[in-house]
Order: sequence, then structure tokens, then C-alpha cells
Amino acid sequence: WSKDTVAVVTGANKGIGLAIVRRLAKEGITVVLTARDTTRGKEALESLKSQGLHNVKFHPLDVASPESILALAEWLHKTYGGIDILINNAGISSLHKDMTFENVKPVLDTNYFGVKNVTKALLPLFHDDTPGGARVVVVASTLGQLKHLESKDYVKTLSDREHLTEDFVDSFANHYLKDVANGSQKEGVWPIWSDWVNSRYGRSAEDYTVSKVAAIAYVNALHNILVAQPGKEKKINVFSCCPGYVDTDINGNTGVKTCEEGADTPRVKTPEEGADTPVWLALHSPEGGSGKFWTERKVIEF
Ligand code: NDP
Repeated sequence: WSKDTVAVVTGANKGIGLAIVRRLAKEGITVVLTARDTTRGKEALESLKSQGLHNVKFHPLDVASPESILALAEWLHKTYGGIDILINNAGISSLHKDMTFENVKPVLDTNYFGVKNVTKALLPLFHDDTPGGARVVVVASTLGQLKHLESKDYVKTLSDREHLTEDFVDSFANHYLKDVANGSQKEGVWPIWSDWVNSRYGRSAEDYTVSKVAAIAYVNALHNILVAQPGKEKKINVFSCCPGYVDTDINGNTGVKTCEEGADTPRVKTPEEGADTPVWLALHSPEGGSGKFWTERKVIEF
């Protein structure tokens, strides 16, 4: 890697995103730290510079705003000509809120439609000479695994990897939004909860799960599009992953304490540890791994 390699990270002013930027910057890559709030983004940039990381640049990006996405794409094109790595990390939850349309819509707009819109806007910018191919990484969650969905029909179609399409993923996300708007989230369709999830989040993780199911499915659908492209003049690999249960603001800093093998004291996973799999996927682009869902550097069941 060199300073001519350009990586873009969304939602990078804090948490796992900031840790991802730091790790990539230490590789000597030019990293574009993006954040929806310019003050918070610039503060994060300064904190990295004070650690000697001068190869990080800042540009505003609200992933839920088409205008903001377009402005970033234009700036990247003008400034660098193209990019090599995109890490879609930005995410929100409606922790402890009611599942009203008002609360749920931003979660879907950020965690699914935001991921999709940023990726689609930046796809034309990927260099065609990135060694091993360009890479898109989507930070999703194991809460988006299909075992959390109750509808057998959705589980069947979403797990049919080879035939999954972007239109179907859109219709899945929009169906959920429509049901929420009508107040008719049917039993038997949307997520069911293990006691573990219920005890921590109650019903308020429902929209988050739907958004992460859609994000993982979109990666699969995008992979199908990319491999089917006639001529395939550029290679782009696309991965979804879970960073693990990390102590950050998104879960109210409730990262679960686990006791690792050989350790005496239970502890929470740090953002730096959460950054490991997304960064590893971005740097190594494991052969045959495109389109799949990863955690702890391994493919796991969607
Ligand atoms: P944080 O809340 O610490 O960070 C989330 C980041 O996303 C913040 O920088 C936030 O910006 C940004 N963001 C939110 N909305 C937007 C938007 N519309 N446009 C641009 N940026 C936005 O949480 P984490 O670091 O934990 O989350 C990072 C990713 O990891 C998320 O996708 C999350 O779902 C995922 N994840 C986290 C887990 C965990 O245990 N922590 C587990 C599984 C997945 P701002 O400061 O302005 O709010």
C-alpha cells in the first residue's frame, strides 16, 4: 500500500469508524475520514494528526443525504481521480425508542439506504488497477442474521444467494417501512427476539435488525451484479461484516464483558478490536470471500 491508495470511511468521527481510519492510516494509505458533522469530523482529524497521522483528510458526508453523497463523489473525483477502498461504517440505532415511523425511518435511511446510495455513487470512482481489486466493506451486525427474521418466505428468498437482487432487498426494506407507517407490523414477519436481545434492547432492536439484514443482503446482491458485468474491466470485491459487540455510543456503551481464553478478568471489546475484521477485509480482500458475511476474519452464516 502507498499514499496513492485512497480509502474512504463513513461515520468516522468516533467509535469503530475512527479506529478503522487510524489503522488504515498507519498502513500509509491516504484515508478520507468522513462525518456528518463538520466540527466533530475535524476534531477527529486533529486527534489523528496529533498522533502523527498526516495522511488523513476530512470531507463532510451525511450518508442519509443524496446531496451530501454527490458532493463527496465530486470532491473525490476532482481531488484523487479515483478510490481503492470504501468502508461503509456509519450506523445508528433507535435504542430504547418506540418503533414509530419517525424513529424507524432514519435507521433504515442510514443503515441500509445510506450504505447502498454511498456505494452506488462511489462505484464509478474505483480504480481499475488496485492490486487484488478494489474493495467495499459494509459494517453490518450479527443482529442482521436471518435467524432473527420470523418470515419463512423472506428467509428463503434472502438466503438464495445466487438470485438475490437489489430490487428485492429494496422491496423488503420498503415493506417494513410501510408496515411501520400503517402500524401493522405483523407477527410472523419481522424479527423475533432471543431472550438475550430482549433483555438488552426489547422491541427497539427490530428496525436495526431489518436495516442490517438489508445491508448484508445488499452486499450479496451487489456481488451478483459485479460478477455478472460483461467485460468486467475492473474487479471490485464487496464484503459485509460484524465488528463484534463493541463498547461504543451506538449501544449506550453496553459492550458485553467476556472473558477471553487465558485471561483472568472479563472485559469489553474496544473500538480498535472492533475495527480488526473490517480493516482486514479491506487490506486482504480474501479470495472467494466477496458477497459473504464475515466476523472475526471468518465467513459466517447470513
Ligand atoms: P458509534 O455510535 O460510536 O458511531 C457511529 C458513527 O456513525 C458516528 O460517527 C456517527 O456520527 C455516524 N453516523 C450516524 N449517522 C450518520 C449519517 N447519517 N451520516 C454519516 N455518519 C453517520 O457506533 P459504532 O462505532 O459502534 O458503530 C459503527 C458501526 O458498527 C455501525 O454501523 C454499527 O451498526 C456497527 N456495529 C456496532 C456494534 C457495536 O457493538 N458497537 C455491533 C455491530 C455492528 P455522529 O457522531 O454524528 O452521530
